[in-house]
Amino acid sequence: MADSTGSTPGSPNTSLHSNFLSDIIAEDVRTKKFGDAVVQTRFPPEPNGYLHIGHAKAICLDFGLADEFGGKTNLRFDDTNPEKEEQEYVDSIQKDIRWLGFDWERLCFASDYFDQLYEWALKLIRDGKAYVDDLTADEIRQYRGTLTEPGKNSPWRERSIEENLDLFVRMKNGEFPDGTRVLRAKIDMASPNINMRDPIMYRILHASHHRTGDKWCIYPMYDYAHGQSDSIENVTHSMCSLEFADHQPLYKWFIAELGIFPSQQIEFDRLSITYTLLSKRKLLQLVDEKRVSGWDDPRMPTLSGLRRRGFTPEAMRAFVTTAGVSRTNGIVDIEMLEHFQRDDLNHRASRAMAVLHPLKVVIDNYPAGQEEMVEVANNPEDPSAGTRQVPFSREIYIEQDDFREVPPPKYYRLSPGKEVRLRNAYFVTAHSVVKDAEGNVTEVHCTYDPASRGGNSPDGRKVKSTMHWVSAAHAISAEIRIYDKIFSKPDPQDVEEGKTFLDNLNPNSLEVIADARLEPSLAKARLEDRFQFERVGYFCLDPDSTPDHLVFNRTLPLKDSWAKIEKKAGT
Ligand code: ATP
Ligand code: MG
Repeated sequence: MADSTGSTPGSPNTSLHSNFLSDIIAEDVRTKKFGDAVVQTRFPPEPNGYLHIGHAKAICLDFGLADEFGGKTNLRFDDTNPEKEEQEYVDSIQKDIRWLGFDWERLCFASDYFDQLYEWALKLIRDGKAYVDDLTADEIRQYRGTLTEPGKNSPWRERSIEENLDLFVRMKNGEFPDGTRVLRAKIDMASPNINMRDPIMYRILHASHHRTGDKWCIYPMYDYAHGQSDSIENVTHSMCSLEFADHQPLYKWFIAELGIFPSQQIEFDRLSITYTLLSKRKLLQLVDEKRVSGWDDPRMPTLSGLRRRGFTPEAMRAFVTTAGVSRTNGIVDIEMLEHFQRDDLNHRASRAMAVLHPLKVVIDNYPAGQEEMVEVANNPEDPSAGTRQVPFSREIYIEQDDFREVPPPKYYRLSPGKEVRLRNAYFVTAHSVVKDAEGNVTEVHCTYDPASRGGNSPDGRKVKSTMHWVSAAHAISAEIRIYDKIFSKPDPQDVEEGKTFLDNLNPNSLEVIADARLEPSLAKARLEDRFQFERVGYFCLDPDSTPDHLVFNRTLPLKDSWAKIEKKAGT
């Protein structure tokens, strides 16, 4: 990585240190562009889906930059589209922002400004700056022109102010059906910027709103509501992603015509990550079509999905901070996100032993009926995490992969005649196997060296392999869910003609292991705990768990491919 974040786990004080955004704000503060007003930002989600990791970047910028300058951040729901918006999303968004470690100054809704926005629309009509148009949606599209051709004026553009006022009030009063009329700003149908070609300000929608109920049957367009909402809240710096750059002239036009507080809009690049999609619309499609179990499916790039998968807010913040901001869109390797998460988990995760694909091992010379506790470090990276006692007995489970009756070259794990270490317990040597009718090994018989207790032999004998294990009589059973990338292509939108991103879904993104065997301490796992199952990966408890049926999610395997990618890139 070019530069490390310096962000400390546990501290929500994340800013994207000295980037062009903080440079602009610092300069505005120095020149008192907004007088003595404190830096005011906002995070403006539309409540039409769950937040994804792209939003985490915007959140870290909006909150982080305000923090850096001693300013404040509002959470504002841009709820101008009642047909797609729901209370469920409003709630989940608040939960996710808090989980990321941020809290807002004020909770605002664009819908709180509907009265004001309506008054301002009347003012624009009175000033001859807005008109009611009777063209159909299709006609409006045709009249708009293209990038290379100017648009042409609507035949309704020169209506009198009185007629416009009358019609707009009647639109509001519910006299006309959906889609029959719109209110448009009167700007310039020949503008090279299509957003300035008499954009629609209001449309008729006889739809119930999650907050205003049936009070309104006309709703402001996002582009009419957004800049004015910023202005009402005295937002000094309104950060948004690059696709809004072309809308800025329109926001400025409304602000100038209305003579209200001018917020400074600054655009930054959208976060994109390989092998996933950061678009609420497409994520909603995955949910609606039941391609995933819900918005919080652990394969989803949503904050709720990543949380359920075991990702931590500290790692999310460190990742978006290091990924940085720029003025051009790029794409970040998913391995980088995983690298930050592994790094964080390596420090915080308690070690535990879990055998995902159990093979029974019988230690013939260990007294039947005897059991003992061996001491195991909870986290070798953090001695303060202490130790725990793990039961050991005559019959244990090891991974099927850790035994080969006929070992291939360089196979150092258990095989007949070979001695290995059972972590923190004893050296064992395999002698014979028991097989089922199909010839599969069902049991391995070993002997142990009692002098090697703790995992070392007093005569200094070396073994080449250390394996995890669980005591068969003491182990608990659990379902394990192993996740892989949700899409099988780096760019899920890269499809042949006639196909869609859905065709790029990875059919093997979820593998369920029904009956893994875990050390008994894991019966006490809580949702917020993070574990490293030794030699297997990072895991956390899934909310589907019940006391009788534990479910663990694999957050990530241990192997870090980002380190390799970096090395290849020579950084
Ligand atoms: P989507 O395309 O996923 O629906 P959106 O931009 O429509 O996203 P909003 O709810 O409007 O979603 O987003 C709220 C804020 O988050 C906006 O300021 C937007 O610029 C920002 N944002 C959304 N997606 C990203 C992203 N991938 N990277 C950075 N910022 C983003
Ligand atoms: Mg949007």
